[in-house]
Amino acid sequence: MTKNHDKVAMVVTAHPDDAEWGCSGSVAKWTRLGWDVVYVLCTDGSKGTEDREISSEKLSKIREEEQRNAGKILGLKAIEFLGYPDGYLEPSLDVRRDISREIRKYKPSVLITTNPKRDLLSGNYLGHPDHFAAGEAALSAVFPSARDHLTFPELLEEGLEPHKVKQVWINMFNMGNLNNNLFFNPLEKKDVELATSALLAHVSQISDPDRAKEYMSSRRQEVGRICGSDFAEAFAKFELN
Ligand SMILES: [Zn+2]
Repeated sequence: MTKNHDKVAMVVTAHPDDAEWGCSGSVAKWTRLGWDVVYVLCTDGSKGTEDREISSEKLSKIREEEQRNAGKILGLKAIEFLGYPDGYLEPSLDVRRDISREIRKYKPSVLITTNPKRDLLSGNYLGHPDHFAAGEAALSAVFPSARDHLTFPELLEEGLEPHKVKQVWINMFNMGNLNNNLFFNPLEKKDVELATSALLAHVSQISDPDRAKEYMSSRRQEVGRICGSDFAEAFAKFELN
């Protein structure tokens, strides 16, 4: 039986835990509805600590394990680690090719990524340069390089046929300003509960679990109020032809 790729989603982020903070409610909803969800993590997460005793190598192993645990909770199909060094990510052609490879391999109909632009009106959220780089590389991979067989011909040589993603959702959930032009994905309480459990699997990154739980619930309720749902996450949504 050929696979129905209408129910395949991909989330491309910079770091382990980015997806759990930003869009894991939507991921939980998808897996509840029987979708295959794949994460693509651009960096190795090797800089996210204030502990002077832990090496980058050890930290990246811990964070990979934490991401795998979060993935099991959410019921992810796969997690792909591209392994670029944390903190130094650029939207290079190498990163674009590597994301294109994953898009061609899994053939998602929907791809979520982070905002490629620094939002100067987003309250006190300065934003991480790796998040901008991951977003830019992911969007450039969707269009046009995952689609065009003559771009990155080595992918075709690997047996990976071009693929057209149907929708892109840019994660705006953590941004201060949410406007009505955004797409609001309504969630059920059980989606938020699963998403919260997945976030808490990132033990090395969560200094205050109660505060993290409160954020997961209250922010999603706040966004839900905009669209008349108990809970929601917000995205800028693009329909592609
Ligand atoms: Zn991050």
